[in-house]
Amino acid sequence: MEDIEHIEKEMKLINSDGRRLDGRSFDELRPIRIEAGVLRRADGSAYIEWGGNKVLAAVYGPREAHPRHLQDPARALVQCRYNMAPFSVSDRKRPGPDRRSVEISKVISEAFSSVVFKEQFPRTSVDIFIEVLQADAGTRCAGLTAASVALADAGVPMRDLVTSCASGKIDDVVCLDLNKDEDNFGDADCPMAIVPRTGDVVLLQMDGHLTYDEFQKAMGLSIDATKRIYEMQRDALRRRYSVTLEDILKEAPPAAAPVEPEPEQPREDDFGPEGI
Ligand code: UDP
Repeated sequence: MEDIEHIEKEMKLINSDGRRLDGRSFDELRPIRIEAGVLRRADGSAYIEWGGNKVLAAVYGPREAHPRHLQDPARALVQCRYNMAPFSVSDRKRPGPDRRSVEISKVISEAFSSVVFKEQFPRTSVDIFIEVLQADAGTRCAGLTAASVALADAGVPMRDLVTSCASGKIDDVVCLDLNKDEDNFGDADCPMAIVPRTGDVVLLQMDGHLTYDEFQKAMGLSIDATKRIYEMQRDALRRRYSVTLEDILKEAPPAAAPVEPEPEQPREDDFGPEGI
C-alpha cells in the first residue's frame, strides 16, 4: 500500500517543459471528431471520438411514455441511459447498471430536461441512450456532447445544444480535459455542461478538491473549451443536413437524352415551287 502511495507521489504528470504526458499544454483539448446521423433505426444519433473515448448516442422520441403510470399529462419525460460496454475499459467491466452509471444517467437526463421544450409533448418520453465503446476518462462529457447532437438530429425542439467539458488539477496545475492517467493520478476533476447561448450551467460535478481560485480557473478553461466544442457540434449537424449541388445531381433521375427532331415530312399539299 505504501509502495503504491509512493509511486503515485513520484509520478510526474507534467514535464519540466510544462507539457503533459501526452504532449498537451494545460489548456489544450484532446482531438475531437463528431458525426451526426450514424444509426438508421434511431430517430437521431451521433458518434463522438474524444481522445481515447469512443461513444455512440441514440435518441428515440418524443414517443408515448411507458410504463403509462410514468406519463406526465403536462410535459415530456427526458430519460437517459448511460452504459459502458464490458470491453470499453482495460479491466473488463461487469455488464449492466451500477451506482456510477445510474448517477451519470441521472445527471445527464437532468441536464437535457432543462433545454428540451417538454411542454410541447405531454405524456411522451424522449429516450437518450449513451453507449461507451471505449473509455479514457471524460466519457460523461463526451456522451453528453454526442447526445446533444443526436437530439438535434432527431428534431427534438430545444433551447440550444448542450456542450460539456471537464477541467481538473494535476501536479498542482489546473488543466483542461484530463485523460485517464491524469484522472487516476491527478488531484481533482470537475466535469461541467453549459447551454452556450444562455451561459446556463446544467451539469456540475467535482471529484477531489479545488480551492476557490482553482475552481474559477477550471471553470474558465472549460467554458472557453465549450465554445470550440459547440462549433464542432454545429459543424457535425451542418455536414449532415447541408445539401450540395453535387448531392442534388446525384439524387436526381438521369437526364433524358436529347430528342432529335424528326425530319420534316413533305405535306401532301407541299409541292414546293415545282408543284403543280
Ligand atoms: N473507468 C473504468 N472502469 C469503470 C469505470 C470507469 O476503467 O468501471 C475508467 C474509464 O476510463 C472512465 C474513467 O475511469 O472514463 C473515469 O471515470 P469517471 O467515473 O471519472 O467518469 P468519466 O470521467 O468517464 O466521465
